[in-house]
Amino acid sequence: MTSSALQTAVTEIAEEMAAREDRGDVASYIPELGRIDPRQFAISVVTRDGEIACGGDCDTAFSIQSISKVFTLTLALGIAGDRVWNRVGREPSGSPFNSIVQLEREKGIPRNPFINAGAIAVTDLVLAGHQPREAIGEILRFMQFLADDDAIFIDRNVALSENATGFNNRALANFMKGFGVLENEVEHVLGVYFHHCAIAMTCRQLALAGRFLAHNGVRPETGYSVVTPERARRINAIMLTCGHYDGSGEFAYRVGLPGKSGVGGGILAIVPGKASVCVWSPGLDVTGNSHLGRIALELLTSRLGWTVFGPG
Ligand code: GLN
Repeated sequence: MTSSALQTAVTEIAEEMAAREDRGDVASYIPELGRIDPRQFAISVVTRDGEIACGGDCDTAFSIQSISKVFTLTLALGIAGDRVWNRVGREPSGSPFNSIVQLEREKGIPRNPFINAGAIAVTDLVLAGHQPREAIGEILRFMQFLADDDAIFIDRNVALSENATGFNNRALANFMKGFGVLENEVEHVLGVYFHHCAIAMTCRQLALAGRFLAHNGVRPETGYSVVTPERARRINAIMLTCGHYDGSGEFAYRVGLPGKSGVGGGILAIVPGKASVCVWSPGLDVTGNSHLGRIALELLTSRLGWTVFGPG
């Protein structure tokens, strides 16, 4: 495919999305996110050879929310290796992102690292006895390194807003602490969790940050190995099966790629061997995933034949 063909596809998808009226609803349970204008849309694609195709508001920063869970999992695997899997499973939950029901049945072990409970358990591993501010700095610097951009920041107002209204996450964390699944103090773990969810990035920056997952763990422009090929493949597998909560099956069926959504309306999707893609539209569907983001990715992958299940 020529570079102009990719840019044409991306531009057309952005135009089509801008014209749609069905946008879903912004996440209002975090008051600061409830203020976001739903009429925004962005798409960025970074290919193996470094071409970047952008459409819409791809230089507008948004709250990455649960997309951060991919990167904290990557860090936790680097810190604890396979011991991560003693604290969290890797099966789809079939439940909403903030569900607590399964924790009781499974002795406080969350089903996977991408639901809230699982990400809180992973955050506990990243914290690993450090001061919360050190762990927050570590995660932020990892994002800046991956995207090659020191301008990436944490939106303090979003972090404060989540902290003020995080009753559900407090329940999950306390429940896990009761089962001995968390080592650190609950408030320290949640402080780090709320801050990594509140990282603000643009679609362009997130697509850049996802490159190592598309290219066997390596940042292709530098040849720098972030993780082993095996680890990149396995993170992609968990994104495919668990990245959209109880909408993961539908996402695999329609888009056919590993992907991770966040309630800020972003989705990071990985086209192994080819590209890293980020879309953003703040309105969510009933499963808490970006409504137009998913539709845009479906258009992109069917148009380019870019799915992990074959080009048809
Ligand atoms: N910070 C959000 C929360 O804890 C993340 C949820 C999400 O993006 N699905 O509820």
